[in-house]
Amino acid sequence: MKIICIGRNYAEHARELNNDIPDQPVVFMKPASALLVGRKPFYYPEFTKDLHFETEIVLKIGKNGRHVQPEFALEYIEEISLGIDFTARDIQSQLKAKGQPWELAKAFDGSAVIGDFVSLDQLPGLSNIEFYLEKNGKQVQHGFSKDMLFSFADIICFVSQYFKLQMGDYIYTGTPAGVGPVQPGDELRGFLVLRSGAQEVLACDVR
Ligand code: ZN
Repeated sequence: MKIICIGRNYAEHARELNNDIPDQPVVFMKPASALLVGRKPFYYPEFTKDLHFETEIVLKIGKNGRHVQPEFALEYIEEISLGIDFTARDIQSQLKAKGQPWELAKAFDGSAVIGDFVSLDQLPGLSNIEFYLEKNGKQVQHGFSKDMLFSFADIICFVSQYFKLQMGDYIYTGTPAGVGPVQPGDELRGFLVLRSGAQEVLACDVR
């Protein structure tokens, strides 16, 4: 199993971090040891003083494939959830300044929080999924998948040119604007808007 992540996939978020709008997907990976599942708490790491949440739609891949063609791309999505791409922003800024890879800032233990998956038929459609994050009961991020620079299909086609997609892989599809810091004691709750209404699919308490 691997965790593929897309950076800067919403223009507003790229702007809030003073990044250029990319002309192809920005891709990085996290190891399996980064996964934090089952509503477990996240322990604030000692190596950062500026840990940020990034709420993202997560795709679970349901079949194997390489060089996926656009007309078949959505068939590779088995289920959908929300995740948090925890990012040590202070470390990421240092790495970016030196032109170094981001793993120390984004691939550490517990940095890939993942919620409960929902089946595709519970969603109003794949073309515009609405989601939001509450921190301590207050909404801090609110996204619509139609605002992604690269769609689910674009992402699946692009990454499968480089990495064989395998059943059980996860793709974090990028965060909308509104990222911000967390502190020990904060409670994060992620909601997906389903046919039946908004449903909490993700819960993560920072300790
Ligand atoms: Zn992210």
